[in-house]
Amino acid sequence: MGGTSSDGCGKVRELVCTLLGTGTSSGIPVIGCACAVCRSDDPRDRRLRCGACLRFLDPSGTPRAILLDVPPDHREQALRIGLDRCDAIVVTHDHVDHVWGLDEVRRYNVLMAAPIEVWASRESLDGLRRAYRHVFERTSNVNDSFVADLIAQPIDDHRPFLLHGLRFTPVPLLHGRLPILGFRIEAVDAAGEPLSEQPGPLPLAYCTDCSAIPPQSWPLLRGLRTLVLDLLRYRRHPTHFTADEAIAAATEIAADRTVFIHMTHDIRHAELDERLPPGMSLGYDGLALG
Ligand SMILES: [Zn+2]
Ligand SMILES: [Zn+2]
Ligand SMILES: [Zn+2]
Repeated sequence: MGGTSSDGCGKVRELVCTLLGTGTSSGIPVIGCACAVCRSDDPRDRRLRCGACLRFLDPSGTPRAILLDVPPDHREQALRIGLDRCDAIVVTHDHVDHVWGLDEVRRYNVLMAAPIEVWASRESLDGLRRAYRHVFERTSNVNDSFVADLIAQPIDDHRPFLLHGLRFTPVPLLHGRLPILGFRIEAVDAAGEPLSEQPGPLPLAYCTDCSAIPPQSWPLLRGLRTLVLDLLRYRRHPTHFTADEAIAAATEIAADRTVFIHMTHDIRHAELDERLPPGMSLGYDGLALG
């Protein structure tokens, strides 16, 4: 794997999407809980908060890494997979379990000697500016301390955007009453159009934290090779899909492969995974979708 333009072949290749965390907001085990899943010795029942990483060679042959959300567990997740760069961050929504690891990315600023773009809706960026005033209003810090160097990139009107040979199409989702974003990710040609032959797990849609898929989003989820979808627990919840709801949505979307994320300690991996329909499975921390 080279790092110069001389070995490029004009399109994205060797793309792997790694699930860095697959647990609900508390993480599993839950602090102070003695339930069977929290005490399970199956490593797939240990779930850090949800985030993912796309690693690939861009059209010039340069290695790239793009983060989907930056949960509070990001430091541990980065160490587990030996992540040593970050070329962009794409945010689904600004809930604590999805973005409160953003301070950790200052280390990539040092490694790459560059700022990092953070792509998010204007609403999510407003939340990030409130939570990370020390980052986004750095000049007001009493001491000029070591903080992340981020460039806010608003996603307007659900318009697709390009990052290093990939097109990210925002997929509006409903997280209870809160509109948030999923993303459809595809490799594109020099004109920005999707390639007819997509590498690895692409086209892939990452749809965390949803309780409903609005009508305008269903066409954006057609023809997927991989779907990553919220599945919280068995019992109803106001802001997340239950197992039955997630399976029903995945059946309708009909991706070649569906992987579920954001599970609570009600879900024992071995128990539910074997009962899922063909082509569907439970995600677990470290699962590499290639
Ligand atoms: Zn528990
Ligand atoms: Zn959320
Ligand atoms: Zn969440």
